[in-house]
Amino acid sequence: MEKRRKFLKKALLTGAAISIPSIFASCKAKETGGSTNASSQKFNWKMVTAWPPNFPIYGEQLLRFSENIEKASNGRLKIQVYGGGELVPALESFDAVRTGTAQIGHAASYYWAGKSPAAQIFTTIPFGMDANQTYSWLAYGGGMKLWEDLYSKFNLIPFPCGNTYGQMGGWFKKEINSVEDFKGLKMRIPGLGGKVITKLGGSAVLSPGSELYTNLERGVIDALEWVGPYHDYVMGFHKVAKYYYSPGWQEPSGMTEIFINNKAFEELPSDLKEILKLAIRKTDFEISIEMYAKNFEYYLKLRKEGNVIFKEFPRPVIDTLKKVSNEVVKELSSSNPEAKKILDSYLDYNKYISEWTDKIEKNWEFEV
Ligand code: CA
Repeated sequence: MEKRRKFLKKALLTGAAISIPSIFASCKAKETGGSTNASSQKFNWKMVTAWPPNFPIYGEQLLRFSENIEKASNGRLKIQVYGGGELVPALESFDAVRTGTAQIGHAASYYWAGKSPAAQIFTTIPFGMDANQTYSWLAYGGGMKLWEDLYSKFNLIPFPCGNTYGQMGGWFKKEINSVEDFKGLKMRIPGLGGKVITKLGGSAVLSPGSELYTNLERGVIDALEWVGPYHDYVMGFHKVAKYYYSPGWQEPSGMTEIFINNKAFEELPSDLKEILKLAIRKTDFEISIEMYAKNFEYYLKLRKEGNVIFKEFPRPVIDTLKKVSNEVVKELSSSNPEAKKILDSYLDYNKYISEWTDKIEKNWEFEV
């Protein structure tokens, strides 16, 4: 311990770089501390989310998050969780927390591409890093610092909170046999994946989850990608579209986030800050692992029920999607300096960590 302190002191004095993974260490607020003599003060927070009320996994885990915090803080920090549309519309949760209507939110950063094009990088990049790689980048590759810097402009503190892992490619009413089939296709697909579909002659629609089933059923959209077998099953998409495609090229990792109003966070005494951060870490893990387990369970369930035709995008389609994805990433990088800085870090780390992923995860049976 003493040795480490000496090292840190020396490093600080000499200006040597110290890399402390900031999702485990803490944000700036830790350094500034908080009021410590406010042990009996009570805080009532509102949490807005981008998900339908009581949404499986997200909604349920966030309720547990709120209960855990209330217990751990002995009732000093209470968080009322609202589904999308209950307090503010789903896609206004970012603004609601930024402006202080609510203190905390849960969503996915690619919903905020309209506020800052760079934000979407933290959810996913088509054909980019998987979940483990993304967590590694955030914690050890400088990604978290970039995310914090970006959100600080909005008076927000971000935290990764849940990952879908690799997603499915989506539900289609018609088969995709060639890239020509994307022409004129109206598809719900957010983020950079949506840009790819647009470039291929389709139109990308961003609508909240609550409208998706009806839109697909009525033909307002022809296709959609949402999450994975579990959520897709709960949403009932298998009742209104026949083809279920993989792989989820558009989201090899689907990082969701918690964002906290910086001022509200600063008002908390230091112990409540710590309780909150620990609860976020726990919820991050709980969401991710439930996703992983339930998605496979429901994939098997859909297969067993036998009403859905499982398809894989043909190889030439995947090759084109990848080529166009690279173009879209390059365009984002050249059009926005903030995005460039984050993408440079992301892409470098992707290249770097992939060697390790290949080393430990290569499954020779799947080699073609
Ligand atoms: Ca998705």
